[in-house]
Amino acid sequence: MKPKYIISSCLVGVKCRYNATCSSTVNLNDMIESGEAIPVCPEVIAGLPTPREPVEIQNIEEGVQVTSKAGKDYTAQFLKSADEVLKVCQENNITHAILQSRSPSCGFGKIYDGTFSGTLIDGNGIVADKLFKNGINVMTDEEFED
Ligand code: SF4
Repeated sequence: MKPKYIISSCLVGVKCRYNATCSSTVNLNDMIESGEAIPVCPEVIAGLPTPREPVEIQNIEEGVQVTSKAGKDYTAQFLKSADEVLKVCQENNITHAILQSRSPSCGFGKIYDGTFSGTLIDGNGIVADKLFKNGINVMTDEEFED
């Protein structure tokens, strides 16, 4: 079967989140095993280590900036990862993406507001936004479950 989906790796058991855990609301492993989907972690693709500092998107209305709580700027790595993941999609004719909710890379529709206080705002992670703007049908794991 040719893959049609990419799925955030942390949704299918890969412990690649910033705190070296995985997390999923729905079992998507069958889609990987059947070849219907490819697992992708944009932050690992960008060369970031696991575990790593948690980051959030800052000032989303004024332009993209991704920083850690300590103020370290990760914007360049996140923009690079978006380019890389789009390339993976284009090379494999991927049409759909199931991505981890609320992540600064993978979140779609809602993300944290940049204050590291757990507050959500409307917006997309850097990678999800890039894929969406390039015609990929993006949904979160929670939307897929529904
Ligand atoms: S949410 Fe996306 S970037 Fe973060 S660990 Fe999961 S796959 Fe990687």
